[in-house]
Amino acid sequence: RAAATFDRRHPPWARFSGDSAEPRAPLFDVVVVGGGHAGTEAAAAAARCGSRTLLLTHRVDTVGQMSCNPSFGGIGKGHLMREVDALDGLCSRICDQSGIHYKVLNRRKGPAVWGLRAQIDRKLYKQNMQKEILNTPLLTVQEGAVEDLILSDPEPERPGKCRVSGVVLVDGSTVYAESVIVTTGTFLRGMVVIGVEMHSAGRLGDQPSVGLAQTLEKLGFAVGRLKTGTPPRIAKESINFSILNKQTPDNPPLPFSFTNKTVWIKPEDQLPCHLTHTNPQVDEIVLENLHLNSHVKETTRGPRYCPSIESKVLRFPNRLHQVWLEPEGMDSDLIYPQGLSMTLPAELQEKVITSIRGLEKARVIQPGYGVQYDYLDPRQITTSLETRLVQRLFFAGQINGTTGYEEAAAQGVIAGINASLRVSCKPPFVVSRTEGYIGVLIDDLTTLGTSEPYRMFTSRVEFRLSLRPDNADRRLTLRGYKEAGCVSQHRYERASWMKSSLEEAISVLKSIELSSSKWKNLIPEVSISTSRSLPVSALDVLKYEEVDMELLAKAIPEPLKKYAVCRELAERLKIEATYESVWFHQLQEIKEVQREEALQLPEDLDYFTVRDVSLSHEVREKLNFSRPQTIGAASRIPGVTPAAIINLLRFVKTTQ
Ligand code: FAD
Repeated sequence: RAAATFDRRHPPWARFSGDSAEPRAPLFDVVVVGGGHAGTEAAAAAARCGSRTLLLTHRVDTVGQMSCNPSFGGIGKGHLMREVDALDGLCSRICDQSGIHYKVLNRRKGPAVWGLRAQIDRKLYKQNMQKEILNTPLLTVQEGAVEDLILSDPEPERPGKCRVSGVVLVDGSTVYAESVIVTTGTFLRGMVVIGVEMHSAGRLGDQPSVGLAQTLEKLGFAVGRLKTGTPPRIAKESINFSILNKQTPDNPPLPFSFTNKTVWIKPEDQLPCHLTHTNPQVDEIVLENLHLNSHVKETTRGPRYCPSIESKVLRFPNRLHQVWLEPEGMDSDLIYPQGLSMTLPAELQEKVITSIRGLEKARVIQPGYGVQYDYLDPRQITTSLETRLVQRLFFAGQINGTTGYEEAAAQGVIAGINASLRVSCKPPFVVSRTEGYIGVLIDDLTTLGTSEPYRMFTSRVEFRLSLRPDNADRRLTLRGYKEAGCVSQHRYERASWMKSSLEEAISVLKSIELSSSKWKNLIPEVSISTSRSLPVSALDVLKYEEVDMELLAKAIPEPLKKYAVCRELAERLKIEATYESVWFHQLQEIKEVQREEALQLPEDLDYFTVRDVSLSHEVREKLNFSRPQTIGAASRIPGVTPAAIINLLRFVKTTQ
């Protein structure tokens, strides 16, 4: 029995409920349900904050499992990873130990919107994550399926109809806890679908979580249904890579973690990816077999930004879609065809695959499949991720309607911190929209909710010129150390040093002011222009594309030499200089939208046909669906970006 297991293995820091209760139930500060991307971060964060923590999950050997793509990061997601890392979270460090192809997306745009991304070795990631989790002080990991919650009277003068005091496992054993975090991903009443066949499962090969779903519904939580899917996996040796476009990794790679100067697998040993495309034959197979594809017929919403090939064919007919062939690991025989998520019957999946260039002889090792699952309306949680209904109960990850490992990890770290702070009666740790992508993610979820799997994008973020991947430590590490206690002393000292060095260097750079002719003498290779005969500061000179700290320090060794010696500091100074004035401009735009909140939008505006305003198809769809009356109302529609709002505002003003 699990209770006996607990007695045998109980860690020295776990307290036990006294009395003569039989069997004795262990008492933890924080219990985390689920060992996925949210659960591992939550459990580790709670333990770092000093809470005696128990991670309960179906199987320890699936801790850190990547259910779908073998990659981390991407546009917006890379920012989340840097912020998780700034709070001393795990995923960035574990990725740097397991990455096999690093590539920064959006490189041509500025570093504010770079998408740090890497292919990750699935097996290595799991191994490294399990090693980390099983060796975290104050954290116990235990296998078990949670079926129910133990509830008690609410704490007076706090909202909530009751308080959670622990969990009940499937065998009836109990674990008491001061706070509980539920991170069950796609498992709540999960149903796996291939073709017209459907069976209960949290994901392929894993049991669903039905009892806990019923408990949450009975408690009064509003539950919705979402779906997602994953592509088939292909045997590597059956692919003709020689005729496909090859993408090599970045050299040098940009690590995810602030603590790493480089990554474990050397760039020269990293693996390439290859690009191929769908064709009209793929469309034909999909369209002819829609009647054999239950998942596609389902009206529940799937991920807009990671759609199945079936949705792409239906929404954008007669187009060729990209398929990236991504390695699953250094010594893996499998390739993940990104862009080919599908739920056709297995034999038809093979037909689709072999109709694609380079895959003519491909062997499908595991078919793609879909999963449909319950999620809880995230408007039922606060910005600390505690539920409004049940005190001390926290939700994090896909259960809140998000999709993606990074979104899950980001919520996990915040839930872990807050569950721990709640135990010690400290104020919650909340990240605002102006402080981080994590803040935007949680604010969007808790105020607007979501009706489709929510993923992070830079376009959702109003303050994206200041919320950059390079400065996440400046924004969050010091707060994480002082207010939450989730950051190690070593990381704190490093971040403090970087912050004060940047501040000092910026003030020195601002104080050096010379005429443009003097700059011309010092740095002849750059033409420094100024409209008036005003002096130009060294910070302004650093904004020029061709100028970096090394060049500046050569021109003015004293006092600049010392700021050019540390490569990281020098690179960060360059980015700070680049964004200084752009950031000011963005602030003006934000103020403009705030001033014009009440501006009326024409009732007869046809968002689909109006061409004089730059709006994405997605934004047009959303505006058309919601028909907001004012600019303020439009700005609160999820997915309508700040850039779209400023364009719309200026368009409406010119037509009035
Ligand atoms: P998970 O990683 O799912 O972890 C949940 C954990 O909870 C599991 O360890 C499970 O065993 C445990 N658990 C569940 N119930 C209980 C219980 N009652 N008791 C104890 N333990 C329990 N994301 C994308 O960004 N793009 C995609 O294309 C994409 N496709 C996907 C396709 C599939 C088929 C699946 C399954 C997921 C896909 N995802 C995709 C989502 C991505 O995997 C998740 O967003 C991410 O894993 C969520 O992390 P999580 O921690 O919330 O949940």
